[in-house]
Amino acid sequence: MNKYDVTKVFLSLSIVIAIGGYLIGYSDGNKNRDPIIMESAIAGTNSSGPTEWSKTGPYPHHDVYYPGTEELKPDEMRVIACGSGMPTPRLKQAAGCFLVELGNGEKFIFDMGAGSYERISALGIPLDQLDKVFLGHLHLDHAGDFPAFYFTGPVNNRLQPVRLWGPNGVKPEWGTKAWVKHMEAMWAWEAATRGAVVDPRGLELEVNEFDWTAMNNVIFDENGVVIRTVPAIHGEQSVSFILDWNGLTFAFSSDTLPSTGYRDHTKGADISIHECFMPPRMMMSKLGMTPSEAIFVGTQAHTSAQAFGKIMSLTKPRLAVCYHFQNDSDTVLAVYDDIRKTYDGPVDLATDFMVWNITTDEIRKRMAVPNHESFPTPAQRQKQPPDSMAILSELFSETTLKSIEPESARVTNEQIEAFNKANGTDVKPGLTAVPFQNQ
Ligand SMILES: [Zn+2]
Ligand SMILES: [Zn+2]
Repeated sequence: MNKYDVTKVFLSLSIVIAIGGYLIGYSDGNKNRDPIIMESAIAGTNSSGPTEWSKTGPYPHHDVYYPGTEELKPDEMRVIACGSGMPTPRLKQAAGCFLVELGNGEKFIFDMGAGSYERISALGIPLDQLDKVFLGHLHLDHAGDFPAFYFTGPVNNRLQPVRLWGPNGVKPEWGTKAWVKHMEAMWAWEAATRGAVVDPRGLELEVNEFDWTAMNNVIFDENGVVIRTVPAIHGEQSVSFILDWNGLTFAFSSDTLPSTGYRDHTKGADISIHECFMPPRMMMSKLGMTPSEAIFVGTQAHTSAQAFGKIMSLTKPRLAVCYHFQNDSDTVLAVYDDIRKTYDGPVDLATDFMVWNITTDEIRKRMAVPNHESFPTPAQRQKQPPDSMAILSELFSETTLKSIEPESARVTNEQIEAFNKANGTDVKPGLTAVPFQNQ
């Protein structure tokens, strides 16, 4: 290769790298965030170990987040998208849910749409620590996983009461207290049967219903964390949230059209997460909506990308994040283009497991690598399960007890005997003793 050829190859390579870099920035929705990306990249390089690769050692610069491997700095906030999508069930995206973790150890769940609980579970956080849930409104795509989270908590090592915050109702029967009352009634059998054999502390529930109409209303003020609400414009009795801690502000719209409350009270937020729908033409082609349905839903029931851009231009957060659409390679470009008609600041287009680490100096965005085979994370408290064996047979009718198959019961009893020997326990067969007691 002569000198000319070498120069040509070098030039071609530079062009490919430049185009690749541009495309990555564009698809991330980070075109105007280059300074932050550069800072992140530099910070990552400085903080993640050796600069030379050993022949057998690890690749030193994974720019991803492995849950459960990083301690937050005392002044740092971490936000994780545990649901960024739509009401439609989808493997890639659960419905609305964002987890906020603070350097002082506090953790908060904002909205808990259908499918989000499995995302949260994949992060390996003890449920004992996830005891505070804030619901902006009571649609299924923002509250649908709360019953599963609440009722299965005790079998997944939550030994801590749950604290729930949600809006009061336009009618009393629509408010959060009534919602919880009906939820408990609906799952009464679940609570009675499962609750009887597990440590019941995780089934204690504190319900805090607040006035959704109050502007800039403080609903939480503990341990240096203040959470306020502003009324949202979404079928009434909906709110948006603002969390302040240690000089950092997290704003979350839940569902709303851009409101004056959001405009006036989220200015300069460090991260502002607001709903944003895909363009009406795509709601027609991809969701099968009629033209009038698409334009109505996409602009009157929900925030369009242009309107999202406008509210971000008016509030100028350090980082804008849009969510609440199917985030794919085609939709993301269309949404991004529409946002750019009204906003030229930093923006991320959320998908599940997007993670932001936020300090006053830096906002670092990465994707989490979740554990697809997660088991319940160990509890931090000591378990105190009830003596369930004693009550088991009392729950069953004579007809059911008589239908226990004796040969299966015999091997089960032998299994229990062997287990007792191996583990020094003294568990007596409950149900499986019945066939032999009856003989
Ligand atoms: Zn909604
Ligand atoms: Zn929604």
